[in-house]
Amino acid sequence: MISYKSQREIDKMRAAGRIIIQVFDLVGELVRPGITTGEIDARVEELIRSEGGKPSFKGYHGFPGSICASVNDEVVHGIPSDRVLKEGDLFTIDVGVIVRGYHGDAARSFAVGGVPDEVARLAEVTAQALNDAIGNCRPTKRLTDIALAVETQGRDHGYGVVEQYVGHGIGTQLHEEPQVPNYVSDELKKRDLVLKAGLVIAIEPMFNLGTAATKTLEDDWTVVTADGCCSAHFEDTIAITADGPEILTRPEAQLDHRIWTGSH
Ligand code: MG
Repeated sequence: MISYKSQREIDKMRAAGRIIIQVFDLVGELVRPGITTGEIDARVEELIRSEGGKPSFKGYHGFPGSICASVNDEVVHGIPSDRVLKEGDLFTIDVGVIVRGYHGDAARSFAVGGVPDEVARLAEVTAQALNDAIGNCRPTKRLTDIALAVETQGRDHGYGVVEQYVGHGIGTQLHEEPQVPNYVSDELKKRDLVLKAGLVIAIEPMFNLGTAATKTLEDDWTVVTADGCCSAHFEDTIAITADGPEILTRPEAQLDHRIWTGSH
């Protein structure tokens, strides 16, 4: 069942979004060659708790970190560790925060120093796909419009569009209905939905430089590309209002905020 949020609930959901905005500012300062993903995780957890939130991911189905830390060919769900970031890496943080009973969820890929042009372009296009999808977050549009916007960017650039992992409704639960895929399938067409004010969703395109295929490592968490090529991931939590999208996890709440900060 889909839960539509009242204006009061959406107002509450801004609190989690505000902490996530601070997290990305912090990570932008921290991400340098030499830092470990475990150090970033610890600093982010400290910030979330000092702001009165809790990390949504910690302990979720047993996940050990406060953030997912995925590097290069890691698509999602990387476990923070003593892995040292190197010049030219693409570091992706996915972070969830709960405060006042409501979750926010967002992800950003960051360049560690200078990344190869093809990696910068991959990240830039993935961020653009998210923006295109968010542009469709308004009443009368459909879930398939969101999925098609993402899929079109990915296919037009020849990227692998990851299908196994999807966006989702969000609120008092981290993952609520509906699932929000990054491509249009017959399954999605059958359950397609006209968007209404009060729907709050996390949209999260993941594009690969190579094929879309992924596999899970022996730690049972880390998802990597099957061919070892680089992957990028951007996500925001968006409230659909009568006036259009309100992005709860960006400072300007609108599309003009630059979310890919690397070169290109
Ligand atoms: Mg998510």
